Amino acid sequence: MKSCDEVKKRIGELAALPAVELPAGIHEHLVGCAACTRALAAARLGRGLLAAADGVEPPAGFADRVLGALPDRAPSRAEAELWRLGWGLVPAFAATAVLLLILYQANPTSGPIGLVPAEGLSAGERLVLEASPPEPDAVLAAVMEGGGT
Ligand SMILES: [Zn+2]
Repeated sequence: MKSCDEVKKRIGELAALPAVELPAGIHEHLVGCAACTRALAAARLGRGLLAAADGVEPPAGFADRVLGALPDRAPSRAEAELWRLGWGLVPAFAATAVLLLILYQANPTSGPIGLVPAEGLSAGERLVLEASPPEPDAVLAAVMEGGGT
């Protein structure tokens, strides 16, 4: 059984071989190793594309760059870009989270109803916002009110 390191070291050479001509040890490793199979497939595809494009051998270090672009080695440029955009949203999110935290801490027992003045609520709204279980009287009042929403 060959190691991942050996496959990666020889990937340029291996990509040049038809699949049936791969050394037995390498083939055996590829069967059990998805990462190396992907890497070799990518190197082979890259070789094929380059060969089709202008009929030359891939430049030196090409296979290394293919390997470097694989997700299990390092995050790709596109992923890094996505994270950068995500971080741009953090300040707005953090501000919202802090605001909610302050509001909830100011009213530790009353919960969400502390966010709005209770006098302004209809019986139905109070029923929804206040802690369960609902009072039978409150349920009756909400029903009599006629579905306040
Ligand atoms: Zn491997």
